[in-house]
Amino acid sequence: MKNGSIHISKDIFEKYEAVIGLEVHVQLSTVTKAFSSDSARYGSRPNNNISPVSLALPGALPVTNKEIIRSAVKLGLALGCNIIKENYFDRKNYFYADLPKGYQITQDNQPVCLGGRLKITLSDGKEKDVILNRIHMEEDAGKSIHDLDDVYSLIDLNRAGIPLLEVVSEPVLQSGEEAAVYFSELRKLVRYLGICDGNLEEGSMRCDANISVRLKGEQQLGKRCEVKNLNSVKNLQKAIDYEILRQISVIEAGGVIEQNTLNFDAATGLTSPLRTKEMANDYRYFPEPDLLPLVITEDYISAVKKSMPALPNELFELFTTEFQLPEYDAKVLTSERETAEYFLSTVKYTKNYKAASNWIMGTIRSYLNDKGINFDEFTVDSEQIAAIINLIDEGSLNNSQAKETLFVYLTKYPQKSVCELILELNLSIDKDNTQLEEYVDSVLSIFADKVKQYHNGKKGVLGLFMGEIMKVSKGKIDPKQANKILLEKIDRLK
Ligand code: ADP
Ligand code: MG
Repeated sequence: MKNGSIHISKDIFEKYEAVIGLEVHVQLSTVTKAFSSDSARYGSRPNNNISPVSLALPGALPVTNKEIIRSAVKLGLALGCNIIKENYFDRKNYFYADLPKGYQITQDNQPVCLGGRLKITLSDGKEKDVILNRIHMEEDAGKSIHDLDDVYSLIDLNRAGIPLLEVVSEPVLQSGEEAAVYFSELRKLVRYLGICDGNLEEGSMRCDANISVRLKGEQQLGKRCEVKNLNSVKNLQKAIDYEILRQISVIEAGGVIEQNTLNFDAATGLTSPLRTKEMANDYRYFPEPDLLPLVITEDYISAVKKSMPALPNELFELFTTEFQLPEYDAKVLTSERETAEYFLSTVKYTKNYKAASNWIMGTIRSYLNDKGINFDEFTVDSEQIAAIINLIDEGSLNNSQAKETLFVYLTKYPQKSVCELILELNLSIDKDNTQLEEYVDSVLSIFADKVKQYHNGKKGVLGLFMGEIMKVSKGKIDPKQANKILLEKIDRLK
């Protein structure tokens, strides 16, 4: 095993097991901040979204944004957590230039959600329940920018006070891959719930990874290191895999792991200790006296539950059982809420579920990929796609006409209907079999030698006949019908 300058033999690597727990910060996509009416919009001009509360001017008082409670309850319900009825906020005290209050409002001993789990499926198909410890509500700090000015560090307080949910897992993950899959699954879930945009480039989800190793069979957990602020799935996986090897190599060399806070350098792929100043860990938590305790009632929880969309695992179940789709299809279709919703609205108009899935996973997705756009920017109505599927099933349209011509026109003229376009483009299929029989006869007579080959066992030439028939008919035939007539006629020639 090799990573950076670290080499470890496979035998030694396999003596150990890694133990990983993640703390994921989910930035909530609320309109206003957690405890003030300042805008929570991303990308505003620096220091534009700030009022006395964000600036912590004397006398400014926080007020809880109800949306953060709603989001926490949604996520808690989706993850099967125990939702705590009586909530308090705490102050976590530390001094930093991007934290004007000198403390962060968070929840310490009594988080809004306890327990819960998230099922993940690994690349080898194995499933695993990732057990959660808790979810708590808190606010973000501002941003310090160290690389824009030669002399000064710049501070942007737009992010100060943006609401976060911190999702803390138990130390149950065992590799970079498991952590990466868990993080991605969590991202998918918060996007489904509509509580976070999951935009990793903008820092909407950031993760601290706690990593330790121990000899296999050992009960006690090893000393852990915490890699801070990982903001992409790839970096998360890389940082963990590197850190596991580093810790093993330290222990193998007779050293001990010191509990440390680390930084991951994406360019080198290495972890290194943060300055000790940032590691000082004495937060003097105490209850936030400016906010009232917050009671979440059963009625509130059931109202939130009713308002929630179907979750990806529920849709997966529906797609594989009721709609009889292969697991692969169900997985792709539920990978994003917009895709699942498009599929669901398509199958309102057609009962050919597999064809709807094929269209979405194939033609439509490659179109979206080509254009570099998402499903929510796709302009062709699901009803039109269903109409195409139904026309193909009736034998009034064939696949190549549908994909190569009709679909292309629909994307250009989304306001036109399938029927209009079929007339305009003269696409309808000749249902007149006498015409079709003539096409078949002429192809069979032109390729008489191939007919002989067919009768001598070379069945592959059928493809050539079909291709020729499509050509002479200019594609205006039903391939199923053509195939049937072709087989009948060729048999008669024997
Ligand atoms: P802290 O109070 O220092 O933040 P927590 O108890 O909240 O510590 O744990 C933070 C995260 O670290 C959790 O995800 C937890 O599962 C994980 N963790 C705790 N101990 C270990 C360990 N020995 N090895 C790996 N992860 C650990
Ligand atoms: Mg912690």
